Amino acid sequence: MKCQSPGCKAENEPRTISHSVIYLERTVTVHQVPAEVCPECGSAVLTEETTLYLDGLLRRKARSKATSFAFEA
Ligand SMILES: [Zn+2]
Repeated sequence: MKCQSPGCKAENEPRTISHSVIYLERTVTVHQVPAEVCPECGSAVLTEETTLYLDGLLRRKARSKATSFAFEA
């Protein structure tokens, strides 16, 4: 997949990243999230599937007070 940043023509590479999201007014960091990352500018793209899965995971984890956890497939 090509990088989405304007002017950047690099090819994204599959990597795992730490992804921070605001959920229920808390910042939650999820580690080991699979993403497409540009080696040139560092912009990361999550697939729609990963985003949807992350939503469900946050909902399940929301009951605990944890502010960071690992992505579990
Ligand atoms: Zn780029």
